[in-house]
Amino acid sequence: MRVRETAQRSSTRRRRSGERDGGLSTLPVLPIRDAVHFPDELSTLLVGREKSLRALDRALKTDRLLLVVAQKDVAIDEPEPSDLYRVGVVSEAVQALPVPDGTMRVVLRGQRRAEIAEIVSSHPFALAAIKPIEVTETHSSEMEALMRECASLFERVAQMSKQVPAEAVTSVMYIERPGRLADAVAHHLPVKPALKQQVLEAADTRERLDVVIRLLLSELEVLQVQQDIRSRVEREMGDTQREYYLREQLRVIQQELNERDERGSEIEDYAERIARAKMPEEVAEHAEHEIRRLEKMPSAAPEGVVIRTYLDWLCGLPWAVETDDTVDIRVAHRILDEDHYGLQNVKERIIEFLAVRQLTSRQKGPILCFVGPPGVGKTSIGRSIARSMGRKFVRVSLGGVRDEAEIRGHRRTYIGAMPGRIIQGIKQCGTRNPVFMLDEIDKLGMDFRGDPTAALLEALDPEQNDRFSDHYLEVPFDLSNVMFIMTANILDTVPPALQDRMETIRFPGYTEEEKLAIAKGFLLPQNLAEHGLTPSKLKMDDAALLMVIRSYTREAGVRGLEREIARVCRKVARKVAEGTTRSTTVRTKNLADYLGRRRYRYGVAEAEDQVAAATGLVYTEFGGDIITIEVSFVPGEGKNLLLTGQLGDVMKESAHAALTFVKSRVERLGGNAELFRKHDLHIHVPAGAVPKDGPSAGITIAVALASAVTGRRVHRDMVMTGEITLRGKVLPVGGIKEKMLAAHRAGMSNVILPKDNDADLADLPEVVRETMHFHLVSTVDEALRLALV
Ligand code: ADP
Repeated sequence: MRVRETAQRSSTRRRRSGERDGGLSTLPVLPIRDAVHFPDELSTLLVGREKSLRALDRALKTDRLLLVVAQKDVAIDEPEPSDLYRVGVVSEAVQALPVPDGTMRVVLRGQRRAEIAEIVSSHPFALAAIKPIEVTETHSSEMEALMRECASLFERVAQMSKQVPAEAVTSVMYIERPGRLADAVAHHLPVKPALKQQVLEAADTRERLDVVIRLLLSELEVLQVQQDIRSRVEREMGDTQREYYLREQLRVIQQELNERDERGSEIEDYAERIARAKMPEEVAEHAEHEIRRLEKMPSAAPEGVVIRTYLDWLCGLPWAVETDDTVDIRVAHRILDEDHYGLQNVKERIIEFLAVRQLTSRQKGPILCFVGPPGVGKTSIGRSIARSMGRKFVRVSLGGVRDEAEIRGHRRTYIGAMPGRIIQGIKQCGTRNPVFMLDEIDKLGMDFRGDPTAALLEALDPEQNDRFSDHYLEVPFDLSNVMFIMTANILDTVPPALQDRMETIRFPGYTEEEKLAIAKGFLLPQNLAEHGLTPSKLKMDDAALLMVIRSYTREAGVRGLEREIARVCRKVARKVAEGTTRSTTVRTKNLADYLGRRRYRYGVAEAEDQVAAATGLVYTEFGGDIITIEVSFVPGEGKNLLLTGQLGDVMKESAHAALTFVKSRVERLGGNAELFRKHDLHIHVPAGAVPKDGPSAGITIAVALASAVTGRRVHRDMVMTGEITLRGKVLPVGGIKEKMLAAHRAGMSNVILPKDNDADLADLPEVVRETMHFHLVSTVDEALRLALV
């Protein structure tokens, strides 16, 4: 601000002095590069050239006036007179400040146009004689129009060009003199100095305006082209951008389409699998409905997974896959014999069963149920039946199943729902007519989640199992061609509704002789093969096998025996692999090297006849077994009866009955009735950890009690079984065959048993019948006579 004011004041002063200078005068010349100075304009310059500094110095020391002239060629450092334009502007150095680098910053104000008449001297700076240029100013409406045109063109240029400051436009608008307007516009125009020089040289204002307008027009044109180029570039940029977006979009669309394709092929795949599975029409319709649901779902929908799993189940079931039955009774018999030693009764029953099936081609007979302790060959007979019929075999254990859903499946609304065990078994074997073994039906439970027995009955019932409904499948599956076989360890706990539907075949367990034969003929050869051995590498003599049977196992079946044989095989296999032996014979002498110490004492009979202890026979899910019942009088009031050894209610009751009976016979037996008055009684049945129940221990408890009361000994090799009544009758009991086998296994030779069980002895193995003495009794008195010494 202040600069401007100072400039204005001094300029008025100088104008006066300029007028006074009139005609030809001399002024130092200041050449400028890259710019043209105009009258009435302020310009700031940096003056650095030697001659220029001197010219400035001279001016500052005199009247501060200089002739500012543009150089024709910017590149020339020391311009000669001919390098300068002839027309310049007389300017006043309004301000001059030294800059630290040795140059001067000068503010110049243009005063008027002048022409170099001649260069008076060139040293130490150019001094020129100047001739003022007369300026003609005319005012007319044409000039007015030109001025407006000029101003508006300038405005447009200013709008389009970034190099014209906005203030320039405003300041130009208020100029009234046409020449001045032309100068101001030219001063601000971002054009080459040569063009600006044309404006400076135009003395006539009308001509000057024309020049400026021409400059403006061409500038506008250039700007227009520039803008076109810019917008085209921008458009092109925009296009690439657009293309990018389109491509992105295309990519997304393609991805979507691919997924649809995959979806499509998945859907096709399912459709094909449905066709291949040959489902019944109703099922296929259901499956297709599910496919349509799947199709409509977004591919990542969680529900989709559920549907896929479901469809996989539907398509994976053998709706129409069946094996052809090859029931030839003779072949079946041969196969059963091939796979199993003994079990004559069982085999006969099975052959009869198959024969009836063959003759009637009826599927709707009763269902076989194999009852017997573990390891007696129930499963393996089942397998043989399947083999002899050319059917697949599948086995599902129902032990511990309490929930109906385990049989019949969970509805699909449950997370992780699956079909029940029956359908799972069917899928696993891959045919719809397998031999299907339902294991451990005596261990089926029942609770608030529904009765599994009911669901099982539905699966087994020939009247309705052609449309077995599994909750998960939702569509019926035809089980009518399945041959079901059930197994149980004991019959007592099999739900009565199931018992009704089945035909029981008992597997009582094996005698030592049978076990030995099974070991020699089956278990040993099978295990040799499984362990990569041959009979030449490992031999076990009969005595050793018998020792395994007697001293390392105590069981009705042969599962433990098989395990021990496998153990011997493993040890020998290791030695053979290590190269320490080539052939081994296992005898009684070296058996302990393979199996360690004996685990059971063979022959449970006591070394001497005992008082107040008797040996009974029990029948459990592990088969028959022998137990010793002990009785003891302890001083007391004679009122208490203590029973220990985890006895069930039935067994406790028979203990009470036995006690009452013995009390009533004390005198006759020659016992001491006082004992009962002054003593409490304790009856213990080992092994204490095993729960026991049943009425058949009655006779044994009575014998032990009688022995305790009379002090008479009990024969040490006498075992017994039988239920008793208060009046001393002996009633028949179950499991005779299993019990006799157990007694035989234990090396006992005398058995007391109810007379009414006589018939059961008929199907005992011959060895048992030959080596044992059966004492059939109908009263406890008879039993006491036999048992007590
Ligand atoms: P379960 O089903 O009654 O518990 P398994 O059928 O599994 O018993 O039999 C156990 C093992 O004993 C099997 O290896 C089986 O082959 C064998 N086994 C059982 N009884 C006989 C037999 N009579 N003849 C040959 N091997 C038998």
